[in-house]
Amino acid sequence: MTVKLAFHGAAGCVTGFCAHLTTGKAQVLIDCGLFQGPKTLKALNYDPFPFEPKRLDAVLLTHAHIDHSGQLPKLMRAGFGGPIYATAATRDLCGVLLPDAGHIQEDEVLFLNRRNEHRGRGPVTPIFTARDAERIMRQFEKVKYGEWDEVAPGIRARYWNAGHILGSASIEVEIDEADGPLRLLFSGDLGPGGRDYEADPDAPTQGLHHLIMESTYGDREREALDPAARRRALAQELKDAHAAGGPLVIPAFAVERTQELLADLVQVMDSGDAPAGDIFLDSPLAIKATDVFLQRGWQQDGHNPFAGIQAPGRIFPLASPRDSDQLERLRGWHIIMAASGMCDAGRIRKHLKRLLWREEATVLLSGFQAAGTLGRLLQEGREMVRIQGEPVRVRARIRYFDAYSGHADAKGLVNWAKARGAVAGKVFLLHGEPASRMGLQQRLSGGVFPADQIVLPGMDQAFILSTATAADTGEPCRIATEATTAFDWHNVRAELLNDLELKLEEAASDGERRRILDRLKVALGR
Ligand SMILES: [Zn+2]
Repeated sequence: MTVKLAFHGAAGCVTGFCAHLTTGKAQVLIDCGLFQGPKTLKALNYDPFPFEPKRLDAVLLTHAHIDHSGQLPKLMRAGFGGPIYATAATRDLCGVLLPDAGHIQEDEVLFLNRRNEHRGRGPVTPIFTARDAERIMRQFEKVKYGEWDEVAPGIRARYWNAGHILGSASIEVEIDEADGPLRLLFSGDLGPGGRDYEADPDAPTQGLHHLIMESTYGDREREALDPAARRRALAQELKDAHAAGGPLVIPAFAVERTQELLADLVQVMDSGDAPAGDIFLDSPLAIKATDVFLQRGWQQDGHNPFAGIQAPGRIFPLASPRDSDQLERLRGWHIIMAASGMCDAGRIRKHLKRLLWREEATVLLSGFQAAGTLGRLLQEGREMVRIQGEPVRVRARIRYFDAYSGHADAKGLVNWAKARGAVAGKVFLLHGEPASRMGLQQRLSGGVFPADQIVLPGMDQAFILSTATAADTGEPCRIATEATTAFDWHNVRAELLNDLELKLEEAASDGERRRILDRLKVALGR
């Protein structure tokens, strides 16, 4: 019996994770994520799946993040009617995140179709709607950490706590073969460990034939902060932002980081370590996700570490857009948390548009900023950015505070890989931008695994698996690995327009501005 494993996403980039496992008896997917980031990559979301959704027996879902779960409603629309195996917390978080992704889809298409109409192009339909996302929730089947489940004929799965976000899992898969079971481990996204809000990552320590692991931070090490040091550092950020005159704007990753930040903000204010101020949670999505954390938060010694969020008088959830608009009138010290975490969607753009030019404001970027996002441009220290097509000068203090990362750093990934013991077949590295993936490859080669055991699959690359090795089937790729993270022409245009805006602003006189534009016109042949 042939076992085939194909990678249809997160191959050379960090989004769109989707692995397709085919045996003689069954077909399952491990995750079905949405592509995010550069437009060239996002365009893949509109393509049909490179497999037949109707023929899938099940989906095994590692965690709720959209880059792992976001194409599930599209999968249902394409005919998939089987079960989606996930932990209870993953299911509940998907119940919040997927309908939200559906709304974003509908809005994006509305905008696109208005533009297409002006340009005489035909309309496009959304990949899926919020209603589709609500319908697919019926297909979820609850699994518990540590228990084997028969997920398809001849395929069993066991979920392990990956310590990445609430409900996250690494998935061990066992496939019946004539000469004994074939054992695979999909890491999912791995947590850093040593946290007070989530468990340390857990997984089997021996007997694996193939390992499929993430490499998001494969080339970077972070300073490890214990919870007390993290809260001290956060308190210092608050003091500095307060001294600058406020407000403090935190682009929020709606799931996990927002709840950890809220719990820590309440703690440092209650203890008097940081200046107290009103905290506005300006994200309907984060408000709903916070309810899931209050219900299902990881229990440390029988105590939900997020319980402090409920303390009265500190946090003000702003569900309606009207409440959100009222923030514009506020001056002085207060904290605004709004999605999205990479600043490329949601209410945060409105706040950045009105606050980025103000020197007294502080923006605290709280996690990984993908190539091509507004958050990345701010992190890189750009003087001018474009928000909803308008140029905005950046004068606010931009701070990067990565203490809430849900990802293991390079050292953590290496230690996790070491703890898996000897792997008989291949170690597939995915879910990392090219430099990160190669960084992890270098760190693992020789010391942890023999160099020839490590494989960096390209998009759509497929392998025939045996207990000892994996043979490339030579399947064609939809997109070259380099194209998955490279700046496409949309990014280059935005950059060029920003540079022009800056150049014109800095020019000494109108005459000089005129000369710059004349030179540009000559270059364009106009
Ligand atoms: Zn994740």
